Amino acid sequence: MTDGAKSFGIVENAAIAIDAAGRIAWLGASNEVPPKTCAETHSVDNAWLTPALIDCHTHLVFAGDRAAEFAQRRAGVSYEEIARRGGGIMSTVNATRAASDDALHAQSKRRLDNLRAEGVATVEIKSGYGLNTDTELRLLEITRSMSRESSLSVSTTFLGAHAVPPEFNGSADAYVDTVCNEMLPAVKASGNADAVDAYCESFAFSTDQVARIFEVAQSLGFPVKLHADQLSDGGGADLAASFNALSADHLEYTNSAGVKALANAGTVAVLLPGAYLTLNETQQPPVGLLRDHDVVIAIGSDCNPGTSPLCSLRLAMTLAASQFFLTPEECLAGTTCNAARALGLQRDRGMLKEGYRADIAIWDIEHPRDLSYWMGRRELRELLVNGKRSQEISTTTNR
Ligand SMILES: [Zn+2]
Repeated sequence: MTDGAKSFGIVENAAIAIDAAGRIAWLGASNEVPPKTCAETHSVDNAWLTPALIDCHTHLVFAGDRAAEFAQRRAGVSYEEIARRGGGIMSTVNATRAASDDALHAQSKRRLDNLRAEGVATVEIKSGYGLNTDTELRLLEITRSMSRESSLSVSTTFLGAHAVPPEFNGSADAYVDTVCNEMLPAVKASGNADAVDAYCESFAFSTDQVARIFEVAQSLGFPVKLHADQLSDGGGADLAASFNALSADHLEYTNSAGVKALANAGTVAVLLPGAYLTLNETQQPPVGLLRDHDVVIAIGSDCNPGTSPLCSLRLAMTLAASQFFLTPEECLAGTTCNAARALGLQRDRGMLKEGYRADIAIWDIEHPRDLSYWMGRRELRELLVNGKRSQEISTTTNR
């Protein structure tokens, strides 16, 4: 997982030196370790080391779940009927608005710990289940506090344009006004968001509405990302590229012009096989076109209660291989160096490289290809974050 490396870029019988600041000071063959005195040495015989995993697309801070709704759907109740009974995304918004900070923190921590336990050291978390200024700010603040208490690194993304809340009686334009004029300046002032995202789909926000949001977001200095072309070809990839977005995510229906636009803009394509699986989709993202045009491909869990109740980036890797026909090398790159790029963090993580953060996963596996082959097998021996053994998030709340 270094620039220009063939396949996995494997170095056998290797050694890594980590400095006091938690950075990789040296790496190479163990018989070539420079003759400096190391304060401590550790042997990890018969293990593989990779960059720690990076989940570049989650919505894991929310209250409640939609398991009852899932059961209703399996019993034959239609989406429309479920929505009429108050289900769908608004049920999560209502539960999230009503939940206390501590309840939200406790429920979300469990999902974050799940990711950590399988080797994830950096996680992106989106807001978007508040849909009013106060609750969106609260979600971003809780996410920041989880980051402070955890040994993990958390990127926060403001996703106010996730759905139109009922207070706006279906007027997406009026809600977009609020996102642009009230929410974005407040989010900026809070200092609690690293990027801005939107959901571009026929039943969510149009390309014009998203463009309005992105213009304000960029004027405030935020990089942008986009949920694009998941259920229809709505020009989302083109739109994301036109704003030089960090990433365009989903992309099942993106056409060849959209793929070319992503390539020209250097926008990362984030594939989300958990949502594809949960929604029983049949339209696969254009992986061949993405490869032909050298678009950087990343993979996320999309952990969310409605369309991807997936708290496992390792399973997302296996699903990307089995459903989207990504190679094992693409799956590991998609959850390390390419996922770092999707978050704009490629300068110091996602590779095992001198000067990079010593975020390292140590695996009990036979070969790195195992990571997109096995499902549900415990493989992580240890996770180092900034050169230190990672701990679970503190359960004491000191916010
Ligand atoms: Zn998503």
